[in-house]
Amino acid sequence: MSDDRLRQLLANGFTCASCGERHEGVFDIAFDYPDPWTGPIEKEPNWSVRLALEEGRVILSEDFCLMGEHHFVRCILPLKLIGADETFAFGAWGTLSQQRFLEFVEVFDTLHGSSFGTAFSWLSNRLPQAPNAPVRAQLHGQDGRQRPVLKIAEKDHPFYQFQNDGLTFDDLLAIYAQYGHRLQMD
Ligand SMILES: [Zn+2]
Repeated sequence: MSDDRLRQLLANGFTCASCGERHEGVFDIAFDYPDPWTGPIEKEPNWSVRLALEEGRVILSEDFCLMGEHHFVRCILPLKLIGADETFAFGAWGTLSQQRFLEFVEVFDTLHGSSFGTAFSWLSNRLPQAPNAPVRAQLHGQDGRQRPVLKIAEKDHPFYQFQNDGLTFDDLLAIYAQYGHRLQMD
């Protein structure tokens, strides 16, 4: 199947042969929590994180997760599509040190998240065909209440190449297939 045909199908939407839903355009694959999380998957509101920090308790919210000395934030891991305007992204979790986590919470709800700069982070979700998490990464704060961007720093990780060189549509379809989404071929 040519890239043009695939591009057309993605642009016009298609009914998924696996999940039965109709998918419009390029859609992201999001992880609800970092891989090490074993607590309840019901999420607390984001603002609860400050109290959870003070009380030293575990918490999972839309954008934060605390497990003892481990501090996680919800990020996006973008993968640009070759020859297209669209960018596919995993919604993945990355760690921050306690100090950087506190700084991140301060700028999180502002429009100038880029003032956070960058930080070392462990990517904390396993990606398909990739070694187990955690994986060394860099976390970049974003402006305009956008989630921070994770960039994989391990050169032998299969998604390091994808992040630098981009994805073909076939690569994208292979990723979707891993998560139970299949393009209807007829
Ligand atoms: Zn689907």
